[in-house]
Amino acid sequence: MSPPLSILLASFLFLLSISTAAEIQDSFPKCVAKHAVKSQNLRCLLPSKPKPLLIFTPLTESHVQAAVLCAKSLAVHLRLRSGGHDYEGISYTSDFKSAPPFILLDLGKLRAVDVDIRSETAWAQAGATIGELYYRISEKSKTHGFPAGLCTSLGVGGHITGGAYGPMMRKYGLGADNVVDARIVDAYGNILDRKSMGEDAFWAIRGGGGGSFGVILAWKVRLVKVPSTVTVFTVARTLEQGATKTLYKWQHIADKIDENLFMRVLINPAPPAAADSGKKRTIKTAYNGVYLGSAASLLKITKSQFPELGMARNETMEMSWIESVVYMGSFPRGTAPETLLSGKAAFVNHFKGKSDFVKEVVPEAGLEGLWRVMLEEESPLVIWNPFGGEMGRIGEGEIAFPHRKGVVFMAQYLTTWRSDKEDAGKRYEWMNKLYDYMAQYASKNPREAYVNYRDDEIGMNGVNFTSVDAVKWGVKYYKTNFERLVRVKSRVDPHDFFWHEQSIPTSLPK
Ligand SMILES: Cc1cc2nc3c(=O)[nH]c(=O)nc-3n(C[C@H](O)[C@H](O)[C@H](O)COP(=O)(O)OP(=O)(O)OC[C@H]3O[C@@H](n4cnc5c(N)ncnc54)[C@H](O)[C@@H]3O)c2cc1C
Repeated sequence: MSPPLSILLASFLFLLSISTAAEIQDSFPKCVAKHAVKSQNLRCLLPSKPKPLLIFTPLTESHVQAAVLCAKSLAVHLRLRSGGHDYEGISYTSDFKSAPPFILLDLGKLRAVDVDIRSETAWAQAGATIGELYYRISEKSKTHGFPAGLCTSLGVGGHITGGAYGPMMRKYGLGADNVVDARIVDAYGNILDRKSMGEDAFWAIRGGGGGSFGVILAWKVRLVKVPSTVTVFTVARTLEQGATKTLYKWQHIADKIDENLFMRVLINPAPPAAADSGKKRTIKTAYNGVYLGSAASLLKITKSQFPELGMARNETMEMSWIESVVYMGSFPRGTAPETLLSGKAAFVNHFKGKSDFVKEVVPEAGLEGLWRVMLEEESPLVIWNPFGGEMGRIGEGEIAFPHRKGVVFMAQYLTTWRSDKEDAGKRYEWMNKLYDYMAQYASKNPREAYVNYRDDEIGMNGVNFTSVDAVKWGVKYYKTNFERLVRVKSRVDPHDFFWHEQSIPTSLPK
């Protein structure tokens, strides 16, 4: 049984009162180092980045209530972390050196997953990884799954509240489209479910981004049907193998092809083929994905609708859905699905990312220009994720995530580097050059962006709780849903307790 709230409150306040500033300064860096593995973006862990006063790891839901009440009474902010994958590290640090002091609420120990195959639903606590949810479903059924992200260490808490796209989005939509209930702690320390929070708040937490409306304790999600055999594939083509023409054609079929097929494209510079070793780097385009069906049926589809790719049987592999999760999570071949329970991340690096939604085909000359920009950078990665299918059928206002009909693909741009010693400024410069270049092909008015690929360069709230820039980034992430999000925020958190650099403001800037 969990201790009563009053005892928790008292012990929490006591803990704070015995910690002098010197004690905190001494023990804090050690604590951060211990927890630092929960950041995917090492750039956000630099010593110059603001650090929390302390890290509080609740063991029960009532601990979360206590954390909200205590932080409020001490006038200290809370940062909420589930899986720690935020692109700007907003869940555990701040962009402002003069950020208000904050406590990090780490939900990593609230990670129970309860799957009920009879009702085809599951409850997953915020600190569970999406990989754990997938694994627990597969333990109970080989023909059920959940349509969310590819990277299996993502925290269910932060991931689903921003949208959560993945290999089954074209058939079933986003993770957030498949949420049927939720438990949250609001700004007053109450635990609310769908009924008690009201439909407006329930709408806002599905796609409205993390850290604005309350602490998500758990999601109740609807499971979806998967076949007992699915087919995965990676088909790589370089410029010398006709990559430009093939990618041009891909854009014509990406959002229209069979909805059981998710075929994304990973684009990066690669060494020249051995025979051309005197030459400069080339561009590699890797078509990578999952088909919810047999290899024979996949090959029939690609042969008739995308013959330019020339997909061969030996570039495909049949397996169970849970094995496909491991494959798409970029684990080494042969990794057992049990690895999903470790919450281990396959990608930890220094990186900067940005996103675009593309609604028109990029012509061949445009692709050639993109290759030129990419070849200027040491380790860039561009990923194009196809939309269409269910994504186009769900209305823009159904949940807060608005990027729907007409999107051919979402583009993600990344540049990565290994060491703190490298010149991050140069990486940012290059990223902005690429982003400027792609402006001509990206969505316009607004140029849309994915909140789960958070980008502080598109605008931030002011450090004094002002929201001068909010319209700039707000409409990019949420389009016309932004105004409704502001209305919900002003009702559920009028004093802006859940504040961060891109939290939904309580009013629109004048
Ligand atoms: C390597 C990598 C791969 C990715 N792959 C995909 C993908 O395939 N599909 C996709 O859609 N996205 C993907 N993403 C983006 C990912 O969905 C977001 O970064 C997401 O916000 C991560 O959630 P988290 O809980 O792990 O992160 P956190 O950093 O813990 O949280 C992210 C945000 O949510 C808030 N938050 C966290 N927990 C809670 C909570 N319990 N209640 C309320 N707010 C909370 C935080 O304050 C922060 O604003 C990827 C990111 C990385 C780094």
